[in-house]
Amino acid sequence: MKYSTPNTVLYIDGKFEKAADANADIYGQSLHYGYAVFEGIRAYQTHNGTRIFKAREHFERLKKSAELVHMPFNWDIDDLIKQTYKLLELNNLKDAYIRPLIYCAPNMTLVAATEVSIMICAWDWGLYLGHKLQKVCISSYERPNPKSTPIEAKVSGNYVNSILATTEARSKGFDEALLLDSDGHIAEGPGANIFIEKKGRLYTPPLGNILPGITRATVMHLCRVLDIDVIEKHLTVKDIKHADSAFFCGTAVEIAGIANIDEYKFPLRWTDTVGSTIQRTYKSLVLEKHNYEVII
Ligand code: PMP
Repeated sequence: MKYSTPNTVLYIDGKFEKAADANADIYGQSLHYGYAVFEGIRAYQTHNGTRIFKAREHFERLKKSAELVHMPFNWDIDDLIKQTYKLLELNNLKDAYIRPLIYCAPNMTLVAATEVSIMICAWDWGLYLGHKLQKVCISSYERPNPKSTPIEAKVSGNYVNSILATTEARSKGFDEALLLDSDGHIAEGPGANIFIEKKGRLYTPPLGNILPGITRATVMHLCRVLDIDVIEKHLTVKDIKHADSAFFCGTAVEIAGIANIDEYKFPLRWTDTVGSTIQRTYKSLVLEKHNYEVII
């Protein structure tokens, strides 16, 4: 997959420059220690033009991530949103995945950064897990303990855990992993939150040991609009292996139905699940389709 062409433009610290000319210093904590924070955002081509979905929420979370790891964040969120729209325009992108990253100036110590840069890039990226139902296994890796690293922050270093979990899942013939938290409860996927369905109700792990997903919050909002019960509670492996259905949700994956967890195959046909209704409604919402407006 190529993420850029010779004409691709990036936003770095207030300026637009060619991706091909951009460079980052080798002597930095971001590269060496995974000490950087980032976001994953999507823009959609809607009948109202290209629209960045939940732009403010994502940049607010970027700010929170920076604060949680003691990085300075001196940017104005309205301006970052404006610059991101400009970036899409300069790259002629209508549907896009947008990746802001805050990374450190040269410094090889283990002391919090005082000087950072912000870079925003974007590329056209289809659904991260594709359209097919996912074969998922319970990972032998746990999500990082929130007492070890702020799990609510989207910190680059936390994603080594994600890479290990996905790699293990693929090596066993599965599509994706599902990780437990350090208390042995269901936490989340390597890059997505999880919902399970039982008797027409949805259940999802509470905040605390997971990334507070913006899609997760959107799904919960859609449930309220559609009068679907959604309950935040600690879930066990047994709970998921007695569920009717399950799905991942996240900006990159959107809503991805799950076929099975380990050997356990979900009994409900995906098209008959609440998840499938949420999947359709989510798409209408991000595309600003008229029928969603009527629903709310
Ligand atoms: N959990 C993890 C570990 C993630 O990386 C992501 C993707 N950002 C999510 C959940 C879903 O978050 P969001 O819906 O905000 O994209």
